[in-house]
Amino acid sequence: MRLSFCSPGALAEFLDPQQQVVVGVGRTARLHCRFSSSGPVASCWIHDREKVVLEGPRVCVTNTCSSSTLVLSDVLPVDVGSYSLFVCNRGGTAHWTISLRVIDRPDPPASCPFVSQLTPTSLVLSWSGPCYNAAGVSDPSKESDCIKMNTAGEPQWEVTSYVEVVPDTTHKARDHYHVHEKLGVGKFGEVYRMSHKQTGWVCAGKFYRARVSREKTAARQEIKLMKQLHHPKLVQCLAAYDTPSEIVMILEYIAGGELFERIVDENFEHTEPNSVNYMRQILEGIQYIHSKRIVHLDLKPENIVCVNSAGTLIKIIDFGLASKLEAGKHLMVLHGTPEFVAPEVVNYEPVDLATDMWSIGVICYILLSGESPFQGNSDAETLALVTAAQWEFNPESFDGITDEAKDFISGLLREDKRTRLSCEKALAHPWIALFDDSNSRSTKSLNKDKMRRFLARQKWKKTGKALLALKRMVHCSKSDALHSPSISVDANALGKEAEQAVASLEKQLWSEPRFHRALHDLTESCGATVHLACTIQGYPDPEVVWLFDEAPLEKTRRVQMNYDKNGICTLTLAQVQPGDSGIYKCCASNSLGQARCSARLTVQL
Ligand code: ATP
Ligand code: MG
Repeated sequence: MRLSFCSPGALAEFLDPQQQVVVGVGRTARLHCRFSSSGPVASCWIHDREKVVLEGPRVCVTNTCSSSTLVLSDVLPVDVGSYSLFVCNRGGTAHWTISLRVIDRPDPPASCPFVSQLTPTSLVLSWSGPCYNAAGVSDPSKESDCIKMNTAGEPQWEVTSYVEVVPDTTHKARDHYHVHEKLGVGKFGEVYRMSHKQTGWVCAGKFYRARVSREKTAARQEIKLMKQLHHPKLVQCLAAYDTPSEIVMILEYIAGGELFERIVDENFEHTEPNSVNYMRQILEGIQYIHSKRIVHLDLKPENIVCVNSAGTLIKIIDFGLASKLEAGKHLMVLHGTPEFVAPEVVNYEPVDLATDMWSIGVICYILLSGESPFQGNSDAETLALVTAAQWEFNPESFDGITDEAKDFISGLLREDKRTRLSCEKALAHPWIALFDDSNSRSTKSLNKDKMRRFLARQKWKKTGKALLALKRMVHCSKSDALHSPSISVDANALGKEAEQAVASLEKQLWSEPRFHRALHDLTESCGATVHLACTIQGYPDPEVVWLFDEAPLEKTRRVQMNYDKNGICTLTLAQVQPGDSGIYKCCASNSLGQARCSARLTVQL
């Protein structure tokens, strides 16, 4: 009788693993993962989902059957990123990712300081370069030109009147603008600081990646939509270029950077009243687009930016996913960022204005607590928490936050979109409408550490490409929705070399059968129950046959055979008789070979 166990075995399970390791340049980073797994294991580390981490002068990997440790000595800035440990056992391959943050003294600012919003009495001085960094002070940037403030009569920079934008189809953006440093990279292209050649006006240019017609349509759609939006809380479109070689949208330049980055700055006061002020501005901007039946569909902290680095005014940017709702038509979308999308997006159900209100609720939750309400260990887990609309106020993180604030968030994070607060209702909510700086009981400073961690994680995610697979807007009928793929995540996408390394892990498990613990000779009295046991290792899992005096044994009421997933093989003989005396053999075989071991049983009268 051939024995094999059919249980495929369980995936390795990571035990209380590290999530992030922070290390200074030149120091040693120790990335350690413990896991529980049965049977043979093979593992490898992959850097940034691309590069297989190999042993070298600076790299040491130590593997055991229940852990793996990667030690990187003399850490360099390029070592930063995600390190994924892939562990393969007979149940399949599991992985865990640790992010390594390397702290270095910042580089000097990328450009010299430049001036915008020049008026006779004020100017905004901006520069781009590395942001907050704990490890030291950079060298200074290059000096700016000398600026004189007696510029009465010159045009002011703030957009006060709105012009009708007609895309220029005969010129390129560079014909009219100098292109300076890169301000950001997004899903649809790159954004640069620009200055108008004739007037010197500073603005931002979004250069779309518009190679194929689908990308061109998407770019034109964003420009068409932006042209209609004129509100002080929304970034303004000032011009557009649409030629066969490029599509560029010129936007007012917003100098203050992302709101959350600003909040974590040491010199910045982060309180609940300040948060009300930001939320009110977000609501005002969104109320305006909602009045035009436009949904933003990508509201998240990085799309809320500060007008300048001195005040508390913000604007909403990035209308790349925005869409106009049309009466009588359902709009279903397959895009967004897992932590911020509403359940109806994940479920591929029709979205509406209330879909933005959910995201506003998530932003407010993070603003007050630094914690992301639906953050799971993977995008798939995050999406599952969103669809279950499963969230709560962590008492420790919301300690000292007013009940009005919690009630406001509760009014937005409702699974049923019909019951969520609208912009009007949110603006009229006591937390927004009645809160002001004189409300002394909650002017306590909010803790910024959690928000710093949130920002670090967002950055890492952006570089780790763990973004929701993005598809452009799809307008479709209900029946289409049934056939459409569910929202998908490309967090597991690996580079070619990494994919091969992970695929070859299973081969490393391969080994011919071997007896880890052999059978022993036994002498027993007549009538006793005898256990003959041995442990077999090998992969693919060996098949086992028991022989008694060279003849295969069959299972009967008296003769039982067991083979468990840990490779333990037991032959149990009940009520042994003198006739059971003899040589028992256990034979194990797989595609790579076979092994046997034997023992003599003597039954005494
Ligand atoms: P994503 O959806 O991936 O965020 P996107 O392609 O839609 O990206 P935007 O969000 O519009 O692009 O821009 C990318 C980045 O460029 C922003 O996060 C911001 O840092 C910067 N940026 C965009 N517009 C402006 C602007 N008007 N002024 C200053 N910086 C800007
Ligand atoms: Mg953006």
